[in-house]
Amino acid sequence: MANDSQVMDKLVSLCKRRGYIFQSSEIYGGVGSVWDYGPLGVELQRNVKEAWWRAMVHERDDIEGLDAGILMHPRVWEASGHVAGFTDPLVDCKACKARFRADQLEESSCPRKPSVHPGEFHDCQLTEPRLFNLMFKTFMGPVEDQAAIVYLRPETAQGIYVNYLNVLNSSRQRIPFGIAQIGKAFRNEITPGNFIFRTREFEQMEMQFFVKPGSDEEWFERWRAWRLEWHQALGLAPARLRLHQHGPEELAHYAKAAFDIQYEFPFGWQEIEGVHNRTDFDLGRHQQYSGKKLEYFDQAANERYLPYIVETSAGADRVTLTLMVDAYREEQVEGETRVVLGFHPAIAPIKAGVFPLVKKDGMPELATELYHALKRRLPVFYDDSGAIGRRYRRMDEAGTPFCITVDGDTVSARTVTVRHRDSMSQDRVGLDQVEAYLRERLEV
Ligand code: ATP
Repeated sequence: MANDSQVMDKLVSLCKRRGYIFQSSEIYGGVGSVWDYGPLGVELQRNVKEAWWRAMVHERDDIEGLDAGILMHPRVWEASGHVAGFTDPLVDCKACKARFRADQLEESSCPRKPSVHPGEFHDCQLTEPRLFNLMFKTFMGPVEDQAAIVYLRPETAQGIYVNYLNVLNSSRQRIPFGIAQIGKAFRNEITPGNFIFRTREFEQMEMQFFVKPGSDEEWFERWRAWRLEWHQALGLAPARLRLHQHGPEELAHYAKAAFDIQYEFPFGWQEIEGVHNRTDFDLGRHQQYSGKKLEYFDQAANERYLPYIVETSAGADRVTLTLMVDAYREEQVEGETRVVLGFHPAIAPIKAGVFPLVKKDGMPELATELYHALKRRLPVFYDDSGAIGRRYRRMDEAGTPFCITVDGDTVSARTVTVRHRDSMSQDRVGLDQVEAYLRERLEV
């Protein structure tokens, strides 16, 4: 990562230039903290989600997938504690009309004098803190009254809790087992920001693991280690990853223990994933509010109990941002600045660029043929415009790990050059070996 306080600005502009991320509704002046993923961004984020799904569902025997609705029965959010407690303390400034989180005044700046905190400019008038609920409300059906209020889910986890018996009874699982889900969540954040780090609409990758009470601490430790390993395997710099244990004041009401997996962003160490020991709080509350028994019957031991839950909760957008920040670097090459997104090949949106060296002598025909053959199996990009060096630079900025050039030797000897993004070294590879050569280097 470039050691540069401007790195976020540079990344935002690269994301727009290369089609990673655009501001939502930009032609109307943009909408607060909502971002749209462009052609490369959507591929990158799909790779993140697929890597997660593979590790959590496909490679394990003890986790099932689920895709629950965004809208749920409103009582769900009473049971979960979100109606009463999903609030942030808020203060308004009567002088400038800006709104701040009361617990983050030290990290915020006064809009009229950014070098001071809110409340420190001569005529600031901050109100007393008020509690503000972060859930988005809407109405189900044609009548907009109190009885029709539903919420956009602020987390995906509740869809898992209310379906836990459905999954258990329809699969061959026994406790301990887990349910995994990827989906949108919405929070009316008071202070969104830092690009896609904190937004109002985002995607979560959550897994709830149901265990026998008493074995929860052991499972919590396992999941904490496995999840950290997963982030490391995506190629993140190990020195920028750490675990942060929640102290008693940080611990959520439902949690017996919690760790954040944090990454060192240009704006400081921040959470990218939480691992929580939620005890039997969630199932206990849903049992109480729904009046339905949610106990598990262990036939072998002939005993009934309410399972404990170990949760792993990551934001797909935050992981995507982390990968981009970690991958971003600038290098001086032959007197010019080279910008590189050095993604692990497994998550890079485009795996290879395919170029004819020049637009004649049979090279475009061979390059197009190779491109079409590869494209059936891998995301590849064809480019025949401009000098070869410029084409390499464009692919470096897009994070493409390999560039394949068809040249005079391809026509005579049926070999191509494969140029590596990071070392810029080149290998000569047989035309019919290109796919195998790439595949070998694309696995996580
Ligand atoms: P924070 O303290 O940053 O608000 P949180 O502790 O409320 O986060 P959780 O409720 O544990 O977060 O959510 C789990 C994960 O969901 C977070 O680790 C993060 O990756 C993601 N996430 C939460 N809120 C947002 C948001 N507003 N924008 C993007 N991702 C988010």
